[in-house]
Amino acid sequence: MDSDRQREQVFKGIAASPGVAHGKVYLFLPKELDIPDDPVDESEQEAEVERFEKKLLETRQEVLKLQKEVAERLGEDEARIFDAHFLVLEDRALIEETIREMRDCGRNITYSFHKVAQRYIDAFTNMDDEYLRERANDIRDISKRLLHNLVGESHYGLSRLSDERIIVAKDVSPSDTANIEKGKVLAFITDAGSKTSHAVIMARSIQVPAVVGMRNFTRILNNGDEILVDGYDGQVVVNPSEQTLFRYGKFQEEKKSLEKKILAQIRRTTKTRDGVSIDLMANIEGANEIDRIRQYGAEGVGLFRTEYLFLNSVGFPSEEEQYQAYMTVAEAMAPDPVVIRTLDMGGDKFPNSVYRPSAETNPFLGLRAIRLCLENTDLFKTQLRAILRASKEGNVKLMYPMISGAGELDRANAILDEARNELSSNGIAFDENMKVGAMIEIPSAAITADVLARKCDFFSIGTNDLIQYLLAIDRINEQIAHLYEPTHPAVLRMIKMVIDSGHSERIRVSLCGEIAGDPVLVPIFMGLGIDELSIVSSGLPAIKYIIRNIDFTDMKRLAEDVLELDDPKEIFSLAEAFYKKNVSHLIA
Ligand code: PEP
Ligand code: MG
Repeated sequence: MDSDRQREQVFKGIAASPGVAHGKVYLFLPKELDIPDDPVDESEQEAEVERFEKKLLETRQEVLKLQKEVAERLGEDEARIFDAHFLVLEDRALIEETIREMRDCGRNITYSFHKVAQRYIDAFTNMDDEYLRERANDIRDISKRLLHNLVGESHYGLSRLSDERIIVAKDVSPSDTANIEKGKVLAFITDAGSKTSHAVIMARSIQVPAVVGMRNFTRILNNGDEILVDGYDGQVVVNPSEQTLFRYGKFQEEKKSLEKKILAQIRRTTKTRDGVSIDLMANIEGANEIDRIRQYGAEGVGLFRTEYLFLNSVGFPSEEEQYQAYMTVAEAMAPDPVVIRTLDMGGDKFPNSVYRPSAETNPFLGLRAIRLCLENTDLFKTQLRAILRASKEGNVKLMYPMISGAGELDRANAILDEARNELSSNGIAFDENMKVGAMIEIPSAAITADVLARKCDFFSIGTNDLIQYLLAIDRINEQIAHLYEPTHPAVLRMIKMVIDSGHSERIRVSLCGEIAGDPVLVPIFMGLGIDELSIVSSGLPAIKYIIRNIDFTDMKRLAEDVLELDDPKEIFSLAEAFYKKNVSHLIA
């Protein structure tokens, strides 16, 4: 910031990874490579092809090494991000096209590859389908690495940070962060806007704050500018004043003191001061999270998002592979429950592998989750058999995503029966009483919850989707993110409706969307009568602490009061005032 260096300025983006960081900016704007365009005559072309094949091999080995390092440092799942790079490096069509290009244009192989790769990137960038558009980034990232090798320059990415910095970038690719030194990065800020971008995944795995969707922020800042990043609220303060730093410093102190108090209570049950219990569960995406959720005091797994097994695999995982994953979690958590959700692929989640439904204009309204499974019954049944087999190893419950009504639930259950029969006739054991539930995340399911409740053993309200479908707000579109209002009266009434319908049939109702971990909103959900909250593990201790220190009667009154209001902002203010009155003093 050249002008007005001392003046504090506040910018707002999308909060993508929690935490607060204060430090100097490292503006990460990798320079364009100089691509040589010298001609090669026919006699040199064979040597150029050999050089190309050699560099492809070298690059493959480099990526393998990187993948191994990332797997060791951050875990297998994080490392699978490089699988897509191998697909590009091994793509014979692209390799042959490069060689053809060299023969046609008579220029060197580096130039030819650059041209071909750019054609691929342009084609993918212009596709309607979001998944395919994102593949352009994989091609861009790996092409850059290969081009560096062809030109003879190293690709350093963020590996050369000399001191602790806040990374500000247009976007960050897996190769850029592969050699990063964990302690050197204080936070990530990106112009690009997706909460599922690589920078965000990286920030969460190394537990630093991230704010995304900052649009042209890289143009505003200079290297070394002093900024403060609030990953809870999505705020970035440039040239923070003493006052701001004090306020945030105090906030950090409060957080530390809260953490101390919380850790002392972590093994206790989650019961309000006046004795009302709730189950506090964790959302997970793989067996590698078990230690962490135990450490954070999870009383079970309320949502096992199985699609990540599929997203990260080349080809679909076999029944045996799936069984191993489900069984590992079931066994480790036993006797605590593990709710395994069947495949929720589609929307913005697609695998790296072969299966792609045809391009859809509105993927979130398309062939997603249970719809996709009911159209691909072999795939679905393979998963159901794997879950059933795992059910004998622990307290497994099965849950269907995106149920829209009773007919769909019946069809899913009929296939589940077929899977049971197949196992029985092969003498394979499973828990015959395994509970089966439905996610309530489509308004039609919520409205017919009384019918569904008679056909289910439990409900789990998926507010991430329920809010997007109810308010018609795309959950990943940053331009309308401010309209995504969990405190909209329609949302709260719908949650109440589902809880009441479930309770009328004496089934338990859980809430597993991100807002289940929002300390300001949790008292409302408790007051509405929710039986279980399932959240990302790092949020568990604070939520447990808060619930254990408030009276249920107060939360019930709060829920009654907010149901009388019709303005989302007013409802939020009331919840916030409740939080300040009943919770803030606990953490002061
Ligand atoms: C939800 O929609 O609230 C949910 C938990 O499912 P997902 O975020 O995986 O769609
Ligand atoms: Mg959902």
